Amino acid sequence: MKKRILIVGGVAGGATCAARLRRLSEEFEIIVFEKGEYISFANCGLPYLVGGVIDESKKLVLQTPEFFKARFNVDVRIKNEVLSLDRTAKTILIKNLESAKTYKEEYDVLVLSPGAKPIRPALDGINDQRIFTLRTIPDARAIQKYLETAEPKHALIIGAGFIGLEMAENLHNKGLKVTVIEKLEQVMPPFDPEMANAITRHLKMKGISFKFGKGVESFDAGKSFAAVLEGGERINCDMVVLAIGVSPDTTIAKDAGLLLNTTGAIIVDSKMMTSDENIFAIGDAVTVENPILGDNWQVALAGPASRQARIAADVISGMDKRYNGTIGTSIVKIFDITAASTGCSEKLLKRAGRNYKKVYTNVPNHVSYYPGARPMSMKLLFDADNGAVLGAQIVGVYGVDRRIDVIATAIAGKIPADKLKNLELAYAPPYGAAKDPVNMLGFMAENTLNGMSKTVHFDEVAGLAKKGAIIIDVRTAEEYMAGRIDGSINIDLNELRGRISEIPRDKPLITYCQIGFRGYLAERILRQKGFDVSNLSGGYLTYIQAMRTDDMPVTIEEELPISDTMPNGFALRNTVKEIDACGLSCPGPIKKTFEAMDEIAVGERITIKATDPGFASDITSWCKMSGNRLIKLASDEGIFSATIERGTVGDATNGRENMTKDRLTLVVFSEKLDKVMAAFIIATGAVASGKKVSMFFTFWGLNALRKKDSPKVKKTLLHSIFAKMMPKGADKLKLSNLDMAGIGTSLMKRIMREKRVESLSELIESAKKSKIKLIACQMTMDVMGIAQEELLDGVEVGGVAKFLEDCDNSGTSLFVS
Ligand code: FAD
Repeated sequence: MKKRILIVGGVAGGATCAARLRRLSEEFEIIVFEKGEYISFANCGLPYLVGGVIDESKKLVLQTPEFFKARFNVDVRIKNEVLSLDRTAKTILIKNLESAKTYKEEYDVLVLSPGAKPIRPALDGINDQRIFTLRTIPDARAIQKYLETAEPKHALIIGAGFIGLEMAENLHNKGLKVTVIEKLEQVMPPFDPEMANAITRHLKMKGISFKFGKGVESFDAGKSFAAVLEGGERINCDMVVLAIGVSPDTTIAKDAGLLLNTTGAIIVDSKMMTSDENIFAIGDAVTVENPILGDNWQVALAGPASRQARIAADVISGMDKRYNGTIGTSIVKIFDITAASTGCSEKLLKRAGRNYKKVYTNVPNHVSYYPGARPMSMKLLFDADNGAVLGAQIVGVYGVDRRIDVIATAIAGKIPADKLKNLELAYAPPYGAAKDPVNMLGFMAENTLNGMSKTVHFDEVAGLAKKGAIIIDVRTAEEYMAGRIDGSINIDLNELRGRISEIPRDKPLITYCQIGFRGYLAERILRQKGFDVSNLSGGYLTYIQAMRTDDMPVTIEEELPISDTMPNGFALRNTVKEIDACGLSCPGPIKKTFEAMDEIAVGERITIKATDPGFASDITSWCKMSGNRLIKLASDEGIFSATIERGTVGDATNGRENMTKDRLTLVVFSEKLDKVMAAFIIATGAVASGKKVSMFFTFWGLNALRKKDSPKVKKTLLHSIFAKMMPKGADKLKLSNLDMAGIGTSLMKRIMREKRVESLSELIESAKKSKIKLIACQMTMDVMGIAQEELLDGVEVGGVAKFLEDCDNSGTSLFVS
């Protein structure tokens, strides 16, 4: 007798299982029951049907019952709902939804692939006609019809998972204002918050609004339709899409007494067999093994449903096959970016108590010299002991799909994280790099595992700094100026070797750069010089992505009118110059902006295009600091475009001169040892905290800068007498108090030596190395007859104008007299 196989559900899992069963045996009698009007339709395409990207619903219908009959000899009964099953009699009860008649069918084997349904909590007002969910083609059509007939202006999306965000994009593209409400503090739960922030940042740039941290408590259809949030806030809207997750559609399995987990998912073994050996279950309705954690989870994705369908069919046909679990590889397009993840998130690993390590990087999808490169933010999680890859998350514009798939394959093939460096991946300039981003992750994992690099992460920086760690920003001054970690000092990597003496040896150090690589080089230099140093993984980009959620740059949609704040006399020419900085990583775009601003007049504008992910933030803060006006900021296909108008404040070309808070000017008038030392100590401290410092030595103060063994200089008699009477250089200065004919000063110097306090000469040398500007007063030199060659090397000579210019640009000016 023919084996009779009945299948409940005719979409991803059900249809795949039926087709595979037929390929395995012509002898089976196969009947598929589907309560909806379509089988084998692509529900993954539904958001794009709503948005009009897919123009006709029939394009989503991959197969029809007639086709299935003709091709596979499978009896497909659409609009037939299975109401219950009798495991003892091995029958199911079906209702024909067109005729309303019920009937029974017997089975030898039953396959359940009923999927999962959108969660619709029992909230007040939940049945309002303006609230939609999205699972089927009719659901999509209902939304389309509402858009056409009611012409809603403002949509609320409840839930920021992938369906919610795809709907946000598609409704926005239909011209609606879209607000996403999410109970968690982040979008996309499979991602960790710092990676999810990159997605939120992009959505905000595109004009999507968010409300995080509060769930919806009810819907109010009073005067105006609104969602009411926890705490009572009302958000008026014209329509709602509920996308808060799905729950297994398993009532019939539950009623039949099959084993389910606490959330209603059917428990199956690795053969996809339920607690009844004649019943198999697959797809969104089941709970499956998470092979990374060794426990079970529910993953509602089409790929796993289809693989499970194949395993079930093979086992039913008598093969010894096993499903090897689901690692949850998923990908989503959100406007111009792609976000993908595989394996476990850090949140999951923490919850499971797993001993893991992680690395971050931000790299272009292909070599940056080939046009069109776009950055990707990558996070790799791996076992701290054996290096097994545990998960990865990538957000970028291009090439995300390929990288996540390589890492998913590494998880499946048990290739440890440090061996990712060995993978031979396809490369030509338009596609990748000789060291592919995945290879880079491998290098980083290897360095972390073997101790070559000690990494710290964004969330550890503040705590370590509180305990005394010194944070060294090894980017260029321009990058540092455009944004930095609070309290960090700036030593450009290229100057690091020459400025090592400025770095305290008794404190732990954290190095960082823009994406992590220069920070790593700095770490290696300092480690070899005996410092206790760690590098910030992912650099400043990952840091701001994680920590600065409040100042995410937002799109300035409309170009602002020409500034009316320009003082009279400035020509408002409004010339727009286009600068292409695409493919350049920081500081390239900012540097190009400086250069371009240098060439335009006040009131003129430039537009600069860049692909560096930090550009939107950098340019926003740079404009604020430099007194230039950000006129327009937009992003398209990963290209940021900023229009900037040159401002009038100070020298707007590089903004550094306007960072008044970051400048200190000291006027050293005194020649007393303690006072001059205090001036140098303040100056050195200010430099260490990131300030630019100028010291102006005038009158008696100038003596501190005199050389001990200066060359003979021709002087007038008066000048010679003066020169003899005045202390010649730092070592000859005396205390302002208790000098006691030199005894007090000598004692003080001895105590300082014992306490390892730097002498004034040493302080002056350090100051020169830290680029403290030492300016000798020209007028004093003239009056006292001191020539430049009598002063220490590196001292600039300047007039009052020079001093006043520095004062103008300073937040603080101190007078040491
Ligand atoms: P389904 O494909 O949902 O099929 C179950 C079918 O069973 C349904 O048609 C239902 O009507 C029928 N049924 C249920 N109960 C009965 C009954 N008692 N009698 C008769 N019929 C019954 N996954 C991805 O991997 N990538 C994506 O981009 C993606 N995008 C998605 C977008 C949307 C809008 C949605 C809704 C899902 C998306 N998914 C995506 C998820 C993916 O579609 C599902 O994981 C997959 O379809 C699950 O297959 P399944 O067979 O378990 O369930």
